Amino acid sequence: MSRRKQLVIPVFIPFGGCANRCVFCDQESITGGKNPPEVRDAVETIEAYLSTWRGAGRKEIAFYGGSFTALDRGVQIKYLEAARGYVLDGRIDGVRISTRPDCISREIVEYLKEYKVDTVELGVQSMSDTVLRLSGRGHGSRDTVFATTLLESSGFKVGHQFMPGLPGDTVSLSLDTAMEIIRLAPAFVRIYPALVFKGTALHRMYLAGDYSPWTLEETVEVCGKILGLFIEARIPVIRMGLHASGGLEDNLVCGPYHPSFRSLVEERMLNGTSKTRSVRPVARG
Ligand code: SF4
Repeated sequence: MSRRKQLVIPVFIPFGGCANRCVFCDQESITGGKNPPEVRDAVETIEAYLSTWRGAGRKEIAFYGGSFTALDRGVQIKYLEAARGYVLDGRIDGVRISTRPDCISREIVEYLKEYKVDTVELGVQSMSDTVLRLSGRGHGSRDTVFATTLLESSGFKVGHQFMPGLPGDTVSLSLDTAMEIIRLAPAFVRIYPALVFKGTALHRMYLAGDYSPWTLEETVEVCGKILGLFIEARIPVIRMGLHASGGLEDNLVCGPYHPSFRSLVEERMLNGTSKTRSVRPVARG
């Protein structure tokens, strides 16, 4: 392991601040948790990571799994005060949060800065307003443009999370989304192809015949094109495909999941082929 490797300490706040459930979202499977932790539990997590970390790279606390800036303000401040303490005493180099594009305002930006947050990941998912509406996101592409521009001009590092294959999405709309994201020039991108998890609205849509996930084969193909666009634009894609963890595989119903999704995409880009022809997409009814 490289001594310069970064440490990102994840503090999961499943569905924290989320006023609605996006059709695809199953934070329990993805984060392995059910409720946002008490601040003292978050501090315990941070201490546990720091006590075993021997690397020399940058160290961050990351509040993931919900809409951080839509949490009750008092709760946000408690988390942020705890995190800022670590930055002020030099044990942590920065704080990152993930949130929705419609939960960013000038006022929010001001207190995020005050509490030493330096990276904001936005759940962009798509830049097609039709896809966003059919996916129950409750925000439009204009919110993403506003939030990204405001955060970037205020000195934050901005990351975009992009989810190809949502209801109403097409290859062409996903490529358009990639181009719109490139125009906004985030510091990095994560790509998570849409999957169907048990008990989500997307699962019900799938059972009713109103949604068909993309196949693994076509998703690898599209993501290869998308990755090519980001490489050309020199925007790092720091993650492709969900990490196999928590109850993910148990709760997955169907969709283009593969534990080595990125390798399949890169292999496709290099050779024009991949092993996807011999790998069946997950489909458990
Ligand atoms: S805003 Fe994010 S965490 Fe909340 S329901 Fe939607 S995808 Fe899930």
